[in-house]
Amino acid sequence: MPRKILVLAGTAEARDLASIIHASGNTVVSSFAGVTQNPKLPDGEIRTGGFGGVEGLISYLREASITQMVDATHPFAAQMSRQAFAATVAVQLPLLRLERPAWQSQEGDIWTHVTNMEEAADAIPPNARVLVTTGHKELPEIFLRTDLKGVVRLIEAPRLTVPHGWKVLLDRPPYTLPGELAVLREHRLTHLITKNAGGNATRAKLDAARKLGLSVVMIDRPKKAPARTVANVQAALSVLGIEACTG
Ligand code: NAP
Repeated sequence: MPRKILVLAGTAEARDLASIIHASGNTVVSSFAGVTQNPKLPDGEIRTGGFGGVEGLISYLREASITQMVDATHPFAAQMSRQAFAATVAVQLPLLRLERPAWQSQEGDIWTHVTNMEEAADAIPPNARVLVTTGHKELPEIFLRTDLKGVVRLIEAPRLTVPHGWKVLLDRPPYTLPGELAVLREHRLTHLITKNAGGNATRAKLDAARKLGLSVVMIDRPKKAPARTVANVQAALSVLGIEACTG
């Protein structure tokens, strides 16, 4: 039976993996939730939008004759990962999870660990000036703290009204240390709230926070289903038995 690999997308790693699978001559379908307006697309087939829960995903896997699934969603896309695990168990397909390692604190870091945005908002002292890099979904919780001000950095414009005292910065990774130092200094920020996304593209904010002695509220990753997991694209290709074309 010809191989047809479904990649659950939403990360740079998912994009790179799908493009390499396509270049290797195998069929790959990248699936996007449809949340981002203009995502950078990989080569190969694309599908967009939710599957309709576990049942919907099971139907899709059967109808599209998928032979293998790679869950390369963001570490915080917990629901999709749970559903991917349940659906592949139900139809007995192999599931590989591609997830970059979490950031680890180092000497000089001032991190408070929390498990969600509600706890993150509670962990910020009164009248602080905060850089928030968690994404759209979590903004309502932080805006409930009417004493706080600062900067919300997003890739796309927010879908809710941003309260007085908050500035929206629209930007895209990768970020650099000089750039992050400039943002923290220019807006006189005292705290950073971030998810533990991992990876190099957005880690400069942590280096900048350490340099300036800023407190970081780190939202730790949700627990994921026990799928076989690799940390990078090369390892995923090796498990899939696909060689990257070098020519
Ligand atoms: P989520 O809470 O885990 O999933 C919510 C629902 O969105 C899922 O039940 C599923 O709908 C649909 N969905 C999610 N990922 C999908 C995919 N790759 N293909 C098709 N449907 C998908 O996900 P989320 O946190 O909202 O994230 C949505 C997407 O943004 C993910 O693809 C993720 O990789 C990306 N992303 C998330 C974050 C983050 O911080 N959460 C950051 C960067 C990128 P059905 O139940 O209808 O199938």
